[in-house]
This record gives sequence, C-alpha cells and structure tokens, in this order.
Amino acid sequence: MLKIFNTLSRQKEEFTPVGRAVTMYSCGPTVYSYAHIGNLRTYIFMDLIRRVLRYDGYKLKGVLNITDVGHLMADSDDGEDKMEKASREQQKTPWEIADFYAGVFFEDLKKLNIGKPEIIAKATDHIEDMIRYVQALQEKGYAYETSDGIYFDISKFPAYGQLSGINLDDQEAGARVEVNSEKRHPADFALWKKADPLHIMQWDSPWGKGYPGWHIECSAMSRKYLGDTFDIHSGGVDHIPIHHENEIAQNEALSGHRSVNYWMHGEFMLVDGGKMSKSLGNTYTIAQLEEKGYAALDFRFFCLNAHYRKKLNFTFEGLDAARTSRERLMAALAQHNASPAPTAPEKLEAYRNRFVEAINDDINVPLALGILFEAIKEPKSKDIYKLALEFDKVLGLSFDVLPALPQEESEPVPAEIAALIEQRTQAKKDKNYALADRIRAEIAQKGYSVIDTKDGAKVTKLK
Ligand code: AMP
Ligand code: ZN
Repeated sequence: MLKIFNTLSRQKEEFTPVGRAVTMYSCGPTVYSYAHIGNLRTYIFMDLIRRVLRYDGYKLKGVLNITDVGHLMADSDDGEDKMEKASREQQKTPWEIADFYAGVFFEDLKKLNIGKPEIIAKATDHIEDMIRYVQALQEKGYAYETSDGIYFDISKFPAYGQLSGINLDDQEAGARVEVNSEKRHPADFALWKKADPLHIMQWDSPWGKGYPGWHIECSAMSRKYLGDTFDIHSGGVDHIPIHHENEIAQNEALSGHRSVNYWMHGEFMLVDGGKMSKSLGNTYTIAQLEEKGYAALDFRFFCLNAHYRKKLNFTFEGLDAARTSRERLMAALAQHNASPAPTAPEKLEAYRNRFVEAINDDINVPLALGILFEAIKEPKSKDIYKLALEFDKVLGLSFDVLPALPQEESEPVPAEIAALIEQRTQAKKDKNYALADRIRAEIAQKGYSVIDTKDGAKVTKLK
C-alpha cells in the first residue's frame, strides 16, 4: 500500500485514487531561460512519483504545463512578465524564447530519463479556457475588476491559507505599502491583467486586451484535463505559500469542493549550502555539468540519494562521489549479468519485498537504492542483474546499458592455451588454414573457444 506525505494534512496518508487511472498535475517550467539543476531536481521528483505509481500497477494520466506567459518576476503579482523581460533582453519574440527553452527543457528531461507526462499543456494554447474560468469566478462573486486587471477576492474564500498555514490577518497587518492600492487585500491576486499597448503577449477578453495571471493557468489546465477533483498535484516547496494556495482558492471557489487530494512538494536544492541564484553564478544547467565531464545520469543518481522532502546540497565533491558510486554500481551489474550462477528465489524475493516497501513509504528512493547496493554484494548472478533491471523501472538509471566488463575480471587463460593460440595465429599468417583449424579443434577439446575479431583472436572458456 502506497503512503505519501500530503502537504495539506502534514502527514503520511494511504494513497487511494479517485478513478482507475491516477490523475496528476505537475507545475512545469517557466520557459524564459534554461532550467537549472534545482528545477530539474523537482522534475526528477515528479518522475519518481510517476514511476512508483506505475511500478505499483497504476495507469497514469499526468499533466505537465509549460508556463509561457503570465509568470511575473515575483510570484505575487509584482514586476514584469518573465517572458516579456527575456524577450526584451534577448531581442527575440516571447514565442521564440518559449520554443527555444522548452526544446532544451525536453532534451534535459530525456537525458535525465524523466518520462514525459501524458499531456503537455502550454499556457498560451489555453487562453480561452482561462478566460472562461475567470468569467465563472466573476459570476460567482469571487472576483473584482480594477483599472489594471481582474483580481481574486480572498475575503470571499475564508479557507484561504490551508496549505501553508498562513494567517492572513497577520499578513494584512504587516503588509508593506501596497503598490496596487486598488487591491482590497494584499493577498488578492491577479486572475487577468490588462495589457498596455507595449506588452507583446496579449489577447482579446471581456475586459479588453490582456493576459492571464500565472495561477489561473494551472487551475484552468488541470480542470480541463483532469476534472475538478484529481489525485496528486506536485511542485517545489516554494510554490506552497502563494501559487498553490491561489490554485486551491480558484479551484474550490469554482467547484465548491476539494480539488486536489494529495499535495506533494519537493524540497529545494542548495548550492554550496546556500540559495541558488543567477546573480551568484551558481545555477548550473545539465549542459554545464556535461561540459565538465559528468553524465546527466550522474546528476540523477546524486538526486536519488536524498529523500525528496530533504534539502539537498549540491557540491562538485558530492557529484564526484555520486559518479564514482554509480560507476561501481554499473560495473558490479555488468559482472552479475555475465554470471550464469543462480541466486535463491527466496533471497531475491526478500530484496524485492524490501525494495517495494521502501518505495511505497513516501517514495523512499534513497532507502530503495541502499537495498540494491546490498543486493549487488551477493555472489555474482544474472538473477541479481534481472532484479536490478526490475528496480530500474523506478530508479531510471539505464541499467540496460551496461559498461564493458573490465579485462582483468575475465579468468586468465592457461599458458598451454595461450601457446596454442599463438601457433594458430602464426598458421593463419602463413595461410595454413588446415593447421589453424586443427589447432582450433585442439583448443576446443581443452575446453576453450577462439573467435577471430578485428582486434585479434579472443578466447573464452566453454561452459
Ligand atoms: P519555474 O521554472 O521557476 O516555474 O520553476 C520550476 C520548478 O522548479 C518549480 O516547481 C519550482 O518549485 C522548482 N524550483 C525552483 N528552484 C528550485 C530549487 N533550488 N530546488 C528545487 N526546485 C526548485
Ligand atoms: Zn502551477
């Protein structure tokens, strides 16, 4: 039985999906720049949830959105739209910016073995859905118009703050001087923004030309594809206090009931113990790690070693250690694969049971990985390799692509056989093929086989 920690109840709960396929929405990237390794940790987390569910036999209907409009510089409604800013700075249209960075993002996902959710929803393809959503909120009395947009009126939604435990009265008392004086409460947020003529991305709406707020995107797209009650919503912890509170407010105002059964949040990645930020120059991309000689899967492996609800400190020493450990693991698996010796089924079953228990205990992948590391210490056996392949459905570390067996690991060839090989090579050079064949037969009688390769004769012991 899968148990997951629900941010909403602040405890581990048994997972029971609403329908036959698990419905899951994950907040996707804002495609104004490259995704950094912190962002990617959050998508590895999304991938692990999906893989565990699939391992458990569930069918999935997952949505990942691409935010290509509406996400302002601050998660609350301050500042310029990130896409517009990048467009100005890079002298490209926001559409070009979005296409380019979304393309790189999907390449990164592929390199990291992060499976693409079933539905990829681009915000700008859903403007109509968002407008209808805002209209519906307005009709129900949850929204009001100001000179610069349509705002959600949180005073109409007393349950606001349930996810983060935020106290709105405190917030109001301590609020700094409001930039937008027309807002009725500092935590009211924009559903729709009216655009000035210089704003590049703008659409016709009942409120004139404008563009959607960031939070309405996720509400409109999750509702469209998953309905007004779905199973899991995932994202990074930074989204708990504003973005996801706002999604809940919108969803529940519209439907009148709970919209998401399990909220799952991935903790942040730090760099050298501190915050990752462009200005500090410590926001690495996967391409930058590759330039430094690491494989994308070294980074995935690094992430797999920490539970998703723990902060993970990125350092190059840590990544080096992950690389070494992954190489050892892969080499051991190659040796298991090469050994026909069996492992007792009860032993395999015991490892499997412990692995399944770990992944079902709130996606405890570090523990599951530890169990695999125990298993590979067993005497070499193809059965252990097959077990690892099964575990790889969750781990996603490409255990099917094994490294070559190190040469010194193969058994040394007896001197007598080595001498015969040399005689045979000479016979072939002399074009005395009859002799070469006789020597081959003699070698075979002594329990070895010779294969001619472009690098010379290769000998293996006959089983
Ligand atoms: P954004 O592209 O800014 O919308 O962020 C994409 C995802 O990355 C969101 O789910 C964020 O919560 C997450 N995220 C941002 N910074 C970090 C970080 N340092 N560590 C982990 N996740 C992060
Ligand atoms: Zn979102």
